[in-house]
Amino acid sequence: MNLHEYQGKEILSSFGVGIQRGIVAQTPEEAVKAAKELTEKTGTSWYVVKAQVHAGGRGKGGGVKLAKNLEEVKKISNDIIGMMLITPQTSAEGKLVSQVLIAEDVYYPGESETEEFYVSILLNRATGKNMVMYSPEGGMDIEEVAEKTPELIFTEEIDPGTGLLPFQARKIAFNLGLSGNAFKEMTKFVMSLYKAYESSDAAMFEINPVLKTSDNKILAVDAKVSLDENALYRHKDYLEYRDIREEHPIEVEAKAAGLNYVALDGNVGCMVNGAGLAMGTMDLIKQAGGEPANFLDVGGTADAKRVEIAFRIILKDPNVKAILVNIFGGIVRCDRVAQGVVDAYNNMKNAINVPIIVRLQGTNAVEAKALIDAQEGLNVISAVEFQEAAEKVQEVLS
Ligand code: GDP
Ligand code: MN
Repeated sequence: MNLHEYQGKEILSSFGVGIQRGIVAQTPEEAVKAAKELTEKTGTSWYVVKAQVHAGGRGKGGGVKLAKNLEEVKKISNDIIGMMLITPQTSAEGKLVSQVLIAEDVYYPGESETEEFYVSILLNRATGKNMVMYSPEGGMDIEEVAEKTPELIFTEEIDPGTGLLPFQARKIAFNLGLSGNAFKEMTKFVMSLYKAYESSDAAMFEINPVLKTSDNKILAVDAKVSLDENALYRHKDYLEYRDIREEHPIEVEAKAAGLNYVALDGNVGCMVNGAGLAMGTMDLIKQAGGEPANFLDVGGTADAKRVEIAFRIILKDPNVKAILVNIFGGIVRCDRVAQGVVDAYNNMKNAINVPIIVRLQGTNAVEAKALIDAQEGLNVISAVEFQEAAEKVQEVLS
């Protein structure tokens, strides 16, 4: 589950991680009120207005702006709230901004220069251990740093038995080029950041930038936090962080129906049982020259009811021009799935306006194919081989 920056910062702060403080606002009036409150709390006279959407690169898209007084807070908030924010991480239409974070300006001048770092924590799937990934080249595109100067990206693996050890935190602060007070602050920052990561059952923390202020404080200026959904049962207080407005509406509906659905950009709807087969199916569609419109794992019980729900969900996507049903009948017999497809089709005849290619393999596959082929007046085409199915999809599309 992805969080907004302000929610991520709330979690960090609750574990003692230094953050750029802020107050979230839904309207320009609330933004001004938030700014006044923030000045009382922090003494700041400048503010940063930050669009709260689940996408990075907001700065580049005009979603992060400095305001030097309350009028500017109001004007900028008015511009940002309600805008469709387009960043390198959103679709071409962008994301609707419903709220902004009014944050204190932490790039104030002082005794030393400010410095921006990159720090993330995530699981290294190759070793099964968490790692801190960090770079002195923060603030910018980390992908670009990885490409052009990979030697400036460091990783520190963490033993799950001991957790992050103080010597490791010191090594990180050292590699980031810090000394004196900033060095000490960074070791504290990294230790508490790891504590927050572990304790909140996070799947990923990405803090870019981590800022060394001109008076040597270390603060999380940004916070991209993703929590492990399977662990949410032990963090009931984080459940309210879910913002359905940020999720794909069809995905929300599929989830409620107990289907594993991920929306994609193509035009071939996929109905498959099993995540592995679903991924294989998407690969084959691509190899045949098509583009999958979705990932959909209907799970083990592909009966008529479930097949119908899956059809309805797939067809909500207006880009779908053909549907490929690729189901392996092991426990569930293919002829029953075929009957399910036919029944679902008949139940919702008027709603189905695209051809359906059905490939059923496994128990009673021959009977299943015969059943599909015997149908008249249904736009359903049977296929036996995987490749053949993908090619038939291309045929109906061309
Ligand atoms: P992102 O673009 O979505 O990654 O959003 P960030 O929270 O990382 O903010 C983008 C950029 O805004 C940062 O890299 C900073 O350069 C700038 N920024 C953030 N906070 C402040 C601030 O307090 N003062 C100033 N002057 N710039 C800031
Ligand atoms: Mn950022």
